[in-house]
Amino acid sequence: MSTEITKDIICPQCGEPQKYRLFAGVNAQDNPELKEKILEETLFDWRCQRCNYFAAMAYPFLYTDPEKKLLVCVTPAGSKSTVQPSPAVEEFTKRQVKNLAELKEKILIFDGGYDDVAVELVKNALCAIIKDSYKVNRVHAYFSRVNQDEMEFAIFLPRKAEPVYHSTKLDVYKQSQEVLRTLDFVDPPGFVVADAKLARKIIEEYQDI
Ligand SMILES: [Zn+2]
Repeated sequence: MSTEITKDIICPQCGEPQKYRLFAGVNAQDNPELKEKILEETLFDWRCQRCNYFAAMAYPFLYTDPEKKLLVCVTPAGSKSTVQPSPAVEEFTKRQVKNLAELKEKILIFDGGYDDVAVELVKNALCAIIKDSYKVNRVHAYFSRVNQDEMEFAIFLPRKAEPVYHSTKLDVYKQSQEVLRTLDFVDPPGFVVADAKLARKIIEEYQDI
């Protein structure tokens, strides 16, 4: 079940009091339309019915997909999550992300049946090449899809709103899985932040053996 909360808010532009629906929990199976909004990155959107003022809110919530056994705690910067995984979800993969873009990426990865930690290793390798070829020192890569034998990523370069797309061979993903197997990698307990930082840590560990 998804948990919905209605809040009274006042439009910052025209002062009209209104309702804002927010979700403490989103269950992908019960509410596919909410999952769709996450994939469109519009779940937080709010528009004033009087003056059309638009705002994208940000608040913490829990995303559950019982079918994929995925539990993601969305914790925007500045907010604190107090969620503790219950014993009922012990065998779920538990992740923590900061925003809808990161949640969307996790959903796409798990819907595709891929391992997000291995995907982070692929991104690490790809980003090193991208940084070098575009002569930039910071890029953000998001898993986009798998197309035949290639894994495609949306790459955000500094000061560019639109991403560029780059692919790597699925073999790179398979090698990344192999790295995790060699290290006997298992998820730490609790909500795990599986991101570029974790990937760098894993690669350092791998280079030490
Ligand atoms: Zn308004």
